Amino acid sequence: MTDDLGFLTRAVELSRLCPPSETAFSVGAVIVGADGEVLSEGYSRELDPQNHAEEAALAKLPADDPRLRTATVYSSLEPCGERASRPVPCARLIIAAGIPRVVVAWREPDLFVAACQGTALLEAAGIEVVELPELAEAARAVNAHLLAP
Ligand SMILES: [Zn+2]
Repeated sequence: MTDDLGFLTRAVELSRLCPPSETAFSVGAVIVGADGEVLSEGYSRELDPQNHAEEAALAKLPADDPRLRTATVYSSLEPCGERASRPVPCARLIIAAGIPRVVVAWREPDLFVAACQGTALLEAAGIEVVELPELAEAARAVNAHLLAP
């Protein structure tokens, strides 16, 4: 049995570790295997200044790690469907890794890209996307400085 709320809470905790930025969201991500083992964790700007959380977490595992094929990605923010900083958005990285399930707390607001297509891309690839809105406020609070008028 998976503890979606617990792992997503951990992702939100990781988002608080991000080096501050005025131009990018702070996000945390946890990759959990089918047996409930944490395979990897990451957060925005962890490994380099342009890293996204899902990207940082995926970078710590071999691309052909067979556990990815049954894993779940927990991300405090919906994976990006397009991005300014790199050619491959996180939704495509998750699809390429063969991960079948994504759990998110917060839908990307129209701040840096209009109408985030991350969820649509994932679902079109057959990936199950689960939203736990009870954690959206916690994920958003980490980014409150970006959202203030
Ligand atoms: Zn991303």
